[in-house]
Amino acid sequence: MSNAAAGCDVCRIHADAALAPLECHRGPRWIVRHHAPPAPIAGWAFLCAVRHVQGPADLDDAEAAGFGRALRAASRAVRSATGCDRVYAIAFGQGAPHLHVHLVPRFDAEPGTAAWKVADWYRAVERGERAPADAARVHETVARLRAVLCSEPPE
Ligand SMILES: [Zn+2]
Repeated sequence: MSNAAAGCDVCRIHADAALAPLECHRGPRWIVRHHAPPAPIAGWAFLCAVRHVQGPADLDDAEAAGFGRALRAASRAVRSATGCDRVYAIAFGQGAPHLHVHLVPRFDAEPGTAAWKVADWYRAVERGERAPADAARVHETVARLRAVLCSEPPE
C-alpha cells in the first residue's frame, strides 16, 4: 500500500472485514458497495476503483476502457434493486482522494431525492435530523444488488 493509500478512507473501507456485509461486488478493477450506516437511502451505493486512484483523469488504460461498462452495470443494478426511476452518478473525490462514484437512487414519488435536494437529504441524515434508511431494507437491497451484479459484473 502506498503512503497515500495508507491514509485513504476508501482503501481502509475496502480492507475492513467488518464492512464486508455491505460489499456487493469485488472484481479486479471495480468494487460496488452499499453506503455504510447511516445510509441516507436504501440502495445508495458506490462504484469504487480497486486501485488507489484519485479520479477518472488518473485511470490506466484498462480501467478507463472498463469504466463505462462498470458504471452502466452498477447503475442498472441500483435501478433494478431499488425500483427507482433514475440513478444519479456523482463523484467529488473530496472526502477521500480515491475514485468512488456515488450511485444515488432517485424516486419520482420522493421530491427530496431530486437533483441537489438529495445533498440536503444526505446532510440531514449525517447530522441526525432525518432518519437513515432502515437497516433491514438496506440488507435486502444489498442482497438484490449482489444478485444483479452476479449476472452482469462490472469487471
Ligand atoms: Zn485509496
